[in-house]
Amino acid sequence: MSGLEVRGAVVRFDGPPVLDGLDLSVAAGEIVAVLGPSGCGKSTLLRSIVGLQAMEAGEIVLHDRDVGALPTEAREIGFLFQRPVLFPTRDVAGNLRLGIPRGVAKAEANTRIATALEEVGLAGFERRSIEGLSGGEGQRVALARALLAEPKALLLDEPFSALDGALRQRLVDTVRSVLKARDLPAVHVTHDGDEAKAIADRCLIMDDGRLREESA
Ligand code: ADP
Ligand code: MG
Repeated sequence: MSGLEVRGAVVRFDGPPVLDGLDLSVAAGEIVAVLGPSGCGKSTLLRSIVGLQAMEAGEIVLHDRDVGALPTEAREIGFLFQRPVLFPTRDVAGNLRLGIPRGVAKAEANTRIATALEEVGLAGFERRSIEGLSGGEGQRVALARALLAEPKALLLDEPFSALDGALRQRLVDTVRSVLKARDLPAVHVTHDGDEAKAIADRCLIMDDGRLREESA
C-alpha cells in the first residue's frame, strides 16, 4: 500500500502496555486524526512511528518499505510538535535552512526557502527574528522546515493546542491544503474533537492501546 502503516505496535513502560498491538493505515494524501484523552498514548504512537520511541514489537511501513529499523533521520517522516522547536539565535531563513538536505547550493536553498514560506502563508518572512513571531507564525515556520526536508509523511502532535480560535482555523486550512497538494499521508493527534473533525478525513479513537473507528 502506498501510504503509512503501523502493524501490531507494542510499547510498554511500567505497567500495562501504552500501545497494545496497535494497527493504523493511512493512505497517501489522507489525513487521519487520532483522538483521545491526555495520557492515553497519542504522543507515544507518533514517537514510535518516527523512531524516537523504541517498540517492543510491531512494524512501521512507509510506501511499502519497512522503516522500523532505521534511525529517525532516515525515515523521511516530518514531525510537528505542540510548540514549534525553533532556534532563536537564527532568523527564519536560518531555521529553514536546517530543513534542507545537505549539498543543496545556497542560491537553490534560498529559492526553496522562499517557495516554502509562500506555501505556508509567510511570503517574505526570511529575515524575521524567531522571537518576533506569533505562536501561529512559529508553527508555520516549523511546518515549512518540515516540508523542506521533503518528507514522505507528516505527524502532527497537537500542534494547534496553544493557539486561539481564528488563528487555529487558518492554520488548519493551511495544513490541510499543504498535505493535500503534496499527497502526503498524515496523522494528526489531538484531544479536541472539533479540531479532529476540522482537519481530518477520518477520525480514530485511541482506547486501551489500540485505535477504533469513532462510533456515531
Ligand atoms: P498522550 O500524548 O496521549 O497524552 P503519552 O503518549 O504522552 O500520552 O503518554 C502515555 C502514557 O505513557 C502516560 O501514562 C505517560 O506517563 C507514559 N509515558 C510516556 N512516555 C514515557 C516514558 N518515556 N517513560 C515512562 N512513561 C512514559
Ligand atoms: Mg501527547
